Amino acid sequence: SLDTTRYDYAAPVSAGLFDRAKRVTPGGVNSPVRAFRAVGGTPRFMAQGSGPWLTDADGRRYVDLVASWGPMILGHAHPAVVEAVTAAARRGFSFGTPTEGELDLAEEIAARVAPVERVRLVNSGTEAVLSAVRLARGATGRRIVVKFAGCYHGHVDALLASAGSGVATLGLPDTPGVTTGAAADTIVLPYNDVAAVEAVFAEHGPDIAVVVSEAAPGNMGVVPPLDGFNAQLRRITAEHGALLLLDEVMTGFRVSRSGWYGLDPVDADLFTFGKVMGGGLPAAAFGGRADLMEQLAPNGPVYQAGTLAGNPVAVAAGLTTLRHCTDDVYARCDRVAVTLRGATSAALFAAGVPHRVQQAGSMFSVFFVPDERQVRDYDDARTQDTAAHRAFFHEMLARGVYLPPSAFESWFVNAALDDEALERVLDALPAAARAAA
Ligand code: PLP
Repeated sequence: SLDTTRYDYAAPVSAGLFDRAKRVTPGGVNSPVRAFRAVGGTPRFMAQGSGPWLTDADGRRYVDLVASWGPMILGHAHPAVVEAVTAAARRGFSFGTPTEGELDLAEEIAARVAPVERVRLVNSGTEAVLSAVRLARGATGRRIVVKFAGCYHGHVDALLASAGSGVATLGLPDTPGVTTGAAADTIVLPYNDVAAVEAVFAEHGPDIAVVVSEAAPGNMGVVPPLDGFNAQLRRITAEHGALLLLDEVMTGFRVSRSGWYGLDPVDADLFTFGKVMGGGLPAAAFGGRADLMEQLAPNGPVYQAGTLAGNPVAVAAGLTTLRHCTDDVYARCDRVAVTLRGATSAALFAAGVPHRVQQAGSMFSVFFVPDERQVRDYDDARTQDTAAHRAFFHEMLARGVYLPPSAFESWFVNAALDDEALERVLDALPAAARAAA
């Protein structure tokens, strides 16, 4: 009784809502990639999520392979998370005092990622990264931040230079509004290029506070570090007295119970987390070596704060999600990802569409690259045939599969993807591949 019919493409209720939204919100959205700019058409306004399914305002069901851009690893409205959030809300929304739940969540994070000795909770990945960078500069007394082209660390002024994610999707130049001063102490290097890192340290070593990298980048599509790349970053930064910040906002608690650290254990000085650890509510964190973290106020001089930091309802969602992220959940995600990667590649191959599928644990993306070579950095990622992606995306959407509306984003699986949902995806792939040819 599977519904494998192609939806009539018009989505009148979503279209009406989008028109209304554009009159009150810039571009009709609260985060740019949601606007479907790269793929065209009407963004679907979602009304409900349950397990692996989303239902839009027109009443159509989609298998969700975006998972709110990562957080929903257990699927939507997981009963235990709903119950924990409801119970927390009944106890009150926010007190502006310490609460026991924050402590539980911080302990859960520290227990999973060994080099994290102290944790501070914040509300978004952006906030986590900007706080960690401030701490790194404060602790070293140095000014320069090194980042990699195509890595996205939230919309932090100093880190928007050559950023991935929506900046890549929209093909934006460096963002207006970030002053020369704000970006003057940022150096951008090509990803996966150890020689470039060595060279920049040879020239600026004593001034470099921190190297910031996605632990395994997913914001230019999935471009995993070449073997040993993160370890080389560790070696070079340590040799020069600089810090290493591995951003695990996307990978954290998603690709293994310890995030990318569980697959490639490099002891960074600082880590940032978000997405899964908030279970779909706004919670994020930064953490690392005790001697560094203790330089934050009130113990130390580096100021950082937040009215809603460690919010009890968000903490309940995050803690309950993490506690349900068992080995079985990661095994299920890995299996589902293997199935989807294989089937997608096979369908594209059968249709004669040049492509390359790359993965970092259960995160993966499909690059519509003409020469099928390994995508190692942002320049490689930008050789994609975005028209092929667009055709593929829309055919999948019409057949009830919700993919990232951008060629520069990871697909995110969830542990609730069952046989019915997977069959829907597998049924849709051949037609989508033919559309992309
Ligand atoms: N860092 C990484 C690696 C991310 O993928 C993101 C968001 O996609 C962020 C930071 C920013 O997080 P947020 O959107 O919660 O501010």
